[in-house]
Amino acid sequence: MTTITTRNLKSYYGDFQALFGVDVTFKSGETTAIIGANGAGKTTLMKSICGMINTTPQMIYVDDVAVGGRPAHTVIETGIAMVPEGRRLFPSLSVEENIVLGSHSHRSGPWSLERIYDLFPVLAERRHLSGTSLSGGQQQMVSIGRALMSNPTMLLCDEISLGLAPVIIEDLYTTIKTLKDEGMSIVIVEQDIQRALSVADTVYCMQEGRVSLSSSAAEVSLDAIRDAYFGM
Ligand code: ATP
Repeated sequence: MTTITTRNLKSYYGDFQALFGVDVTFKSGETTAIIGANGAGKTTLMKSICGMINTTPQMIYVDDVAVGGRPAHTVIETGIAMVPEGRRLFPSLSVEENIVLGSHSHRSGPWSLERIYDLFPVLAERRHLSGTSLSGGQQQMVSIGRALMSNPTMLLCDEISLGLAPVIIEDLYTTIKTLKDEGMSIVIVEQDIQRALSVADTVYCMQEGRVSLSSSAAEVSLDAIRDAYFGM
């Protein structure tokens, strides 16, 4: 089981500061949604947690162990996997090769190629095709499958619905719910507020590099979200 906590997290791209003291907790077994306008810092938060942006150790904890500043491959060993915005598949590799790329972790667990194909049968049929020859929704399945191959206990999903048709998004969120029911801790970055609230236990809204709202998803009002989203 994994709980992630950030404490006064500050992140920079060179001299540009993107996060200004972010405190969030992603609880074990829960689904947490991160919402916020373009440029609010949602992706930067995900990247910081995954070790893709340098931070100090005291800013990020996994189950009370300080992991800020560690290289990304060591963060994967703590049970965190990211489904990146834009899917990031390798065009020269097949569907199967793209999925298997995610298995470079020493973690043991239930996930295998066979189990990914059980979750997404269409990928088994297309396993030998180029990853980028698939539809957008199928590419997103490959990206999720690749993340699951590291046997994570916490899955960070950055805008998995971007650019996809509503019926495909519905299918992907059914998968997210299945994973949650199996005990996976999940963080979703999502532009669609209603959809985020429909799956989340806890919701954070970000604005200009800060957390502007933190609430139970069941109890939050749309007025509070509007204020936090637009800074009213
Ligand atoms: P979006 O919904 O557009 O993905 P976001 O909430 O994920 O937005 P971030 O991508 O985290 O926002 O961006 C936060 C801030 O950091 C923005 O001002 C953005 O312009 C800046 N930023 C993001 N990536 C870089 C980068 N590689 N170099 C410099 N600045 C960056």
